[in-house]
Amino acid sequence: MARKQGLHGLPAYEFEDITPFLSEGGNMPIPKTMKAAIVEKFGEPLALREIPVPELGPGQALVEIVASGVCHTDLHAAGGDWPVKPNVPFTPGHEGAGLVVALGPGVTHLKEGDRVGLAWLHSACGHCEFCMSGWETLCPEQKNSGYSVNGCFAQYALAQADYLGRLPKNLSFVEAAPILCAGVTTYKGLKETETRPGEWVVISGAGGLGHIAIQYAKAMGMHVAAVDLGAEKTALAQKLGAEIAIDAKAQDPPTEIQKQIGGAHGVLVTAVSTIAFKQAIGMLRRGGTCVLNGLPPGEFPVSIFDVVLNRYTIRGSIVGTRLDLEEALTFAAEGKVKATIETQPLESINDVFKRLKSGKVNGRIVLGMREQTSEQGKRSMTAG
Ligand code: NAD
Ligand code: ZN
Ligand code: ZN
Repeated sequence: MARKQGLHGLPAYEFEDITPFLSEGGNMPIPKTMKAAIVEKFGEPLALREIPVPELGPGQALVEIVASGVCHTDLHAAGGDWPVKPNVPFTPGHEGAGLVVALGPGVTHLKEGDRVGLAWLHSACGHCEFCMSGWETLCPEQKNSGYSVNGCFAQYALAQADYLGRLPKNLSFVEAAPILCAGVTTYKGLKETETRPGEWVVISGAGGLGHIAIQYAKAMGMHVAAVDLGAEKTALAQKLGAEIAIDAKAQDPPTEIQKQIGGAHGVLVTAVSTIAFKQAIGMLRRGGTCVLNGLPPGEFPVSIFDVVLNRYTIRGSIVGTRLDLEEALTFAAEGKVKATIETQPLESINDVFKRLKSGKVNGRIVLGMREQTSEQGKRSMTAG
């Protein structure tokens, strides 16, 4: 499964990921230092540094990151785009797939060598009304990977053991990475649209999140329309099962959706433009639900009259719970959802960010963390 896609003069990167079943057990050598891509100043290129491997505390697991997906949220984080900002310096990344290499005191349900995934929800308090009612994603005490705690653009990351996802056996690290955020977020978002099998859902934005959302929606029995900018994105959407694909550069999405299907029962917005949010409401059928996943900074206008008279529901949705993640991973393990992936080395992160910012990524980019020349790299070619 080697992929050779040189990027802006960087050498082509071969990243073998043929060991979905890998479980090496203990005795893994843990180096003293590791490579990490660090945000030192908002809006500036990330710095590639050799830093100490973090030290374990109680309830934690140290994970060797093998593959790390690049989400548009990492770009927002590095840009300081949102009202609540991370503290610099920090390491972004919240789609980290890898191996447990060490466990802190008190962790009994995992062992070294377990294949795990770090997601956005690094930890929650476990005892507030949200945690108690199955809404841990709303916990006010939550910590977030690659935002309030260091994330997965590094060779090792600390996880709160109780919040790690378990990777299904037949899903490789590279395949699993995009499910850890893009997958679980859109799977949950689709549930939140309350669209039923046989009904129509529109996926607005067919990027990292959206191209996976199309596949979950199909697997959940929905009819799917997709909206993005440009022929490349609409072609990918169609290839993945969208029955209608609208290029918002050439057509007005609300007009088209109302004309072709009389409005959609659900709309899931993953686009990174505020215009798309306004258009999303216009694509609803009477009684429909619009779920917002995308997080471009800003606001969008909503007609009170339209919302009231059409009984629209507009709802935000943030990632998913650990159970949502387990379900989302199972869909992928069953082959119903497969991210379109380009692999790149960690060193190319700043070029990857540039492309993501300008909408020039088709599907998801996953960073390979292992050195290609070291013993570890050789191991990754044959074993992980
Ligand atoms: P991405 O860059 O891979 O995809 C965004 C897509 O939106 C691109 O394909 C782009 O062409 C498209 N787009 C831009 N303008 C558009 C328009 N006017 N109409 C239709 N499509 C348009 O980014 P991503 O990783 O998929 O993330 C998308 C957004 O979701 C980001 O804002 C990210 O922060 C957010 N996000 C939210 C959650 C959550 O839990 N709510 C989780 C992950 C990501
Ligand atoms: Zn994300
Ligand atoms: Zn809580």
